[in-house]
Amino acid sequence: MTETLDIKITKTLKSRLAETDFDNLVFGRTFTDHMLVADYSDGEWKNFEILPYGEISVSPGISSLHYGQSFFEGIKAYKHADGKVSIFRPDKNAQRFNKSAERLCMPPMPEDIFLQSLLAVVDIDRNWIPTAPGHSLYIRPFMFATDQYLGVAPSLSYKYMVLLCPVGPYFTKALRTKIETHYTRSAAGGMGYAKSSGNYGGSMYPAKKAAEEGFDQLIWTDAKEHKYIEEMGAANAMFVLDGKLVTPLTQDTILDGVTRDTVITLAHDWGFPVEERNVSVDELIAGAKSGKLTDAFGAGTAATIAPVGSISYQGEEYTLIDPSQREFSQKVLKTLDAIRYGQGPDVHGWNCFVE
Ligand SMILES: *Cc1c(COP(=O)(O)O)cnc(C)c1O
Repeated sequence: MTETLDIKITKTLKSRLAETDFDNLVFGRTFTDHMLVADYSDGEWKNFEILPYGEISVSPGISSLHYGQSFFEGIKAYKHADGKVSIFRPDKNAQRFNKSAERLCMPPMPEDIFLQSLLAVVDIDRNWIPTAPGHSLYIRPFMFATDQYLGVAPSLSYKYMVLLCPVGPYFTKALRTKIETHYTRSAAGGMGYAKSSGNYGGSMYPAKKAAEEGFDQLIWTDAKEHKYIEEMGAANAMFVLDGKLVTPLTQDTILDGVTRDTVITLAHDWGFPVEERNVSVDELIAGAKSGKLTDAFGAGTAATIAPVGSISYQGEEYTLIDPSQREFSQKVLKTLDAIRYGQGPDVHGWNCFVE
């Protein structure tokens, strides 16, 4: 840590905590009492403030609305049985935050400032962290351009904000997926590796078309040939094929997920073979047919480990073994839960405690 971040704090006079229905949380719909805001201008971050969650006022001419200079992060905080609160691997998100910022010509946020901002706002709303199984506090840091200027050029001023949402499980059943061979999420040289808002806007139309056919998620393929697997929805695609954990290499078309890295690290810990490489659609389908594809899931902070129930390709649907019978992802889930809820050893020091 360099220096302690100076944050102006204004607490709400009317908490919404008591009237919140924690048994029926819809992901991303319920916000806590407070949020954090900071401004960037004249080349520096300033005005860090925690205040009651609510509307903000911006000019309709801000360039983020017109040209998409905007990106976000997604992180989770957990409450342990002894009441301690920990944030899972936020240092990784701090690094990725700045990779996204660089790709979009936006200013970096010093990593220790980013971490301090999360710790401060989570501390204030720590009573909002649900403790039921699979529940947590979703942390949404984001940055957007605030210059009033319709010229296409990087803004000189920005806002950084952190919102908090108590959440339950994102997906509750195994996913019916479809391998997308027409639309693409990102292309080489593009910004697929950044968590930039525009990537998600562009993915909604193909996802909507797939939903109309009854699919829960798309499996994206490469933009050039549609022969290689890239990601699954907004999560990294991971498979157990022929007894090995197989996942596409992250390059500029694929987001370098923290959950993906976590799963790979656990596999290494267990001596489970890992292959980060191009994964072709053909080998995946062959594995589904032969039974060598024994596990398939999306890995992401929001979705955690989302089991793929079936994969559709060129009009054929291949059903995979029941998620409850999958050794690898069941072990990952159990181990991850133990670490995040403080019930097992955290040998890699992934929990960042909110004091
Ligand atoms: C956020 C995200 C992921 C998952 O990253 P995590 O760091 O594990 O949350 C994967 N792919 C895309 C496209 C994403 O936006």
